[in-house]
Amino acid sequence: MTVETHKETLGFQAEVTQLLNLMIHSLYSNKEIFLRELISNAADAADRLRFEALTDDALYAGDSDLKVSVRFDKEARTISVSDNGIGMSRTEAVESLGTIARSGTRKFLESLTGDQAKDTKLIGQFGVGFYSAFVVADRVTVTTRRGGLTPEHGVRWESAADGTYTIETIERNERGTEVTLHLREGEDDLLESWRLRNIITKYSDHIPIPIVLKDGEKDNVVNRASALWTRAKSEITEEEYQEFYKYVSHDYENPLSWVHSHVEGKYEYTLLLYVPGRAPFDLWDRDTRRGAKLYVRRVFIMDDAKDLLPSYLRFVRGIVDSDDLPLNVSREILQNSKVVDALRNGATNKVLGLLEDLAKDSPEKYATFWKECGRVLKEGPSEDANNRERIAKLLRFTTTNSVGETQDVSLSDYVGRMKEGQEKIYYLTSDNLAAARSSPHLEVFRRKGVEVLLLTDRVDEWLTVHLSEFDGKSLQSVSQGELNLGKLADEGEKEKAENDSKQHQSLLSRVRHALGERVKEVNVSQRLTDSPACLVSEEHGMSVHLSRLLKAAGQHTPKVEMILEINVNHPLVKALDAEQDNDRFGDRALILFDQALLLEGGQIEDPAAYVRRVNALLAGGA
Ligand code: ADP
Ligand code: MG
Repeated sequence: MTVETHKETLGFQAEVTQLLNLMIHSLYSNKEIFLRELISNAADAADRLRFEALTDDALYAGDSDLKVSVRFDKEARTISVSDNGIGMSRTEAVESLGTIARSGTRKFLESLTGDQAKDTKLIGQFGVGFYSAFVVADRVTVTTRRGGLTPEHGVRWESAADGTYTIETIERNERGTEVTLHLREGEDDLLESWRLRNIITKYSDHIPIPIVLKDGEKDNVVNRASALWTRAKSEITEEEYQEFYKYVSHDYENPLSWVHSHVEGKYEYTLLLYVPGRAPFDLWDRDTRRGAKLYVRRVFIMDDAKDLLPSYLRFVRGIVDSDDLPLNVSREILQNSKVVDALRNGATNKVLGLLEDLAKDSPEKYATFWKECGRVLKEGPSEDANNRERIAKLLRFTTTNSVGETQDVSLSDYVGRMKEGQEKIYYLTSDNLAAARSSPHLEVFRRKGVEVLLLTDRVDEWLTVHLSEFDGKSLQSVSQGELNLGKLADEGEKEKAENDSKQHQSLLSRVRHALGERVKEVNVSQRLTDSPACLVSEEHGMSVHLSRLLKAAGQHTPKVEMILEINVNHPLVKALDAEQDNDRFGDRALILFDQALLLEGGQIEDPAAYVRRVNALLAGGA
């Protein structure tokens, strides 16, 4: 292998430059977090070395006392953070410090608004990492050497955040990394021992390896250097929990809540899991499903161990430390491990318990949680049948009783105020609330004062497939199947409906004939009071809405059999009935059908024909 030794000047990936500029401007008020980020990288590097050394003890090369050192030089106006962790090879330095590997970066950058206050929040959510050094430094030098490589494979990386960096191979005697910040003009206040010590204890006390602050000749360990989760709950302050959250989540803001628990039994493990105060930026990014950090007997094993949490809890951040897994566990082993199953069940149980407590004791916090991450929970009933009822209790919906758009009604609330004689939980699926609220399917329910869940999230269609009942009451779509109000319907209404059907047989068959293959049946409606017609899908068939979602997602769907229901008391339907001319009858019937389709959020097959028919009708009526 030829060693690349020459000095190169390389350009940052475009996203890095964009992010850097944004960061320098928006993080200034919070500039001291650079130290947290660099120390956290140093600690990660120590974790990774320890992990790799599990299978290759020689990596330690006689130096297994892993630590982070922070030093400053008043004269040179520099601050350095160094570690004896895993270090970086030349290629790794280019990849890690010149690009942002995290998937979703581009999407994240596109989501920026240009409004500084908003973007600052967003960037915190994204996690700023190494580049935060440039908030206080106008030049950053990194020297590093990968564990396992010889001294002539050292690397020197340097950048002044001007869109480029240089990289060269150097001789470096020690393994590990040193990041040196050449402070910007006016940042000299950071060059004080007490100041650095304060910042470290504020943000990095939980780092499990020693952080040594070098003050002249003196070395002081300034953190506790023990893994936070191994300590007794009573000895951990709220702030410590919060800082640890920021470390594991890369979030800037405090978590909403957390659960810290040591479990003994068949398996022994500790978990410290957090519910964030806002949705992680990649919550809906299918490819970047995160998990918890996995430790085995205090040794870091891996980030984002997906198997430790079910997908519907993917907003949760934190750590799980197992006493039972082997240290050399791999992602493949994790996938089929009984221990991991137990860990996941335990973690799920704890997180659901935490959410239940929040919902009960801190409704405001729960509302925040729901607004930020709640929709993910709706995937729960299909993914986790064992916890279906528990998850169902945690769900929140908008209903016909809600004001505005908040999802704030639980199924228990709903059941608690069901009308006398009501046996089912009624719901309507639709694209958006405005469409839902004006849906003709609600007319009869409004008349009877029956509450209906208004489901407008994509995931709701799946939810209703997997959550067919709650508290012994079945969930019933108001736009599917024959309207069966059970005891809610009074005798007079039933009789009238039967009579209406008998009386209008010839109208029904004329309409059926005019619509041809478009519908399976035409019936007299019991749902409608104000609208002339609506479309209903078969009881056990696919809903019109779901079929449309699937089509939009490019999936093949079987034809949905639709039933047109008409309101024989409506003037338009009466006019239709009175129409003698067969062509005009056909036009009117098709208009009713197309309008019903529009109200379902569907697309009319032939808009031009629709407009022509409506215009003909308008002209005729004038
Ligand atoms: P993150 O820590 O979230 O991965 P950072 O921007 O903080 O993002 O760091 C980017 C990458 O640079 C790290 O993932 C790591 O590969 C590398 N890196 C940074 N600091 C160090 C260090 N002290 N030792 C080894 N690698 C490091
Ligand atoms: Mg980092």
